[in-house]
Amino acid sequence: MEPLLGGRLVDPPDPVQAIWDGAAEVQTPVERAMRWLWDQPEISVVLSGMSTMAQVIENVAHASRYGVGNMTAADQDLIARARTRYQELCPIPCTKCEYCLPCTVDLKIPELFDILNRGVMYNRIDEARRRYDRMAPEQKAAACIACRECEAKCPQSIPISDWMVHLDEILGQGMDVDACLAEMAG
Ligand code: SF4
Ligand code: SF4
Repeated sequence: MEPLLGGRLVDPPDPVQAIWDGAAEVQTPVERAMRWLWDQPEISVVLSGMSTMAQVIENVAHASRYGVGNMTAADQDLIARARTRYQELCPIPCTKCEYCLPCTVDLKIPELFDILNRGVMYNRIDEARRRYDRMAPEQKAAACIACRECEAKCPQSIPISDWMVHLDEILGQGMDVDACLAEMAG
């Protein structure tokens, strides 16, 4: 599921793109993701959302071309460096799986996390704040009642209700991103 991490791998932030640009072999981010997936022995099916015939053809081509053992040590190293960079850039490790839903007060938890993650990852926090500002009060993170019902369902063990507090501080109250993230990490 989600082989392109909800589309996040298609549009890499600049620091990750710099890693891809330094690779010996030129490949699209989609091809890199598919190649890595088909290299995993436990994977026999890749569920990728496709909206055009060109995407179907491209995915079938990747499935035909790649398999277990297709990646060299240099390929693995490249992927490892990109993974580390993504993890550094993405404050909340949410995969948008939606297992945490429904929220007790109907918050769209993955959508809220995505606004902050994208704002930080692409260095567009002002744009994230504007998007958050347009939301109705009952849709904002401040509406979380900290019931923690969602947290037991999250496969990433994300402290969702704590993040809701910080998300509203950063996006709704203009608090400094780095200070909030440091507090959350510490
Ligand atoms: S802790 Fe907050 S986000 Fe999670 S279910 Fe309760 S109200 Fe919703
Ligand atoms: S369950 Fe966790 S990882 Fe999945 S969407 Fe909810 S917060 Fe994100």
